[in-house]
Amino acid sequence: MKKTRRYSIEGVQLEIPLHYDELTGKEIEIIPDFIENPVYTPEGCPVLFTGEDACEYGESPGGTPCIDCGACRFYRQMPGTLIGVCGHQQKRHISSTDKVQPTKEDDKDEKTIGSGNIKF
Ligand code: SF4
Repeated sequence: MKKTRRYSIEGVQLEIPLHYDELTGKEIEIIPDFIENPVYTPEGCPVLFTGEDACEYGESPGGTPCIDCGACRFYRQMPGTLIGVCGHQQKRHISSTDKVQPTKEDDKDEKTIGSGNIKF
């Protein structure tokens, strides 16, 4: 059975595969490609690799060029791993079902988007 490490990040459960690195003698995380297979928090914020190339909205806190998400002021780094969440409004994912007007029978005040258990 493959070893994994579990994280709960802003409402998303992630199971990250581990690989034993003989050189360092440590288990290293195999971070999924979140660009190829996007994962969103229930609020629609994308989960991203800390070293992901900065997008057009990236801004560093000190005004220096932002090279990756980890250097961006909108990125919320999760401790102990190279995964975090982008909080930029322009990067939020609104599911198509959220745009549908509720009918009278469906007139409820609850919405759930893009959450659940994610395995890689
Ligand atoms: S954290 Fe968000 S806004 Fe910042 S560079 Fe990454 S994707 Fe762009």
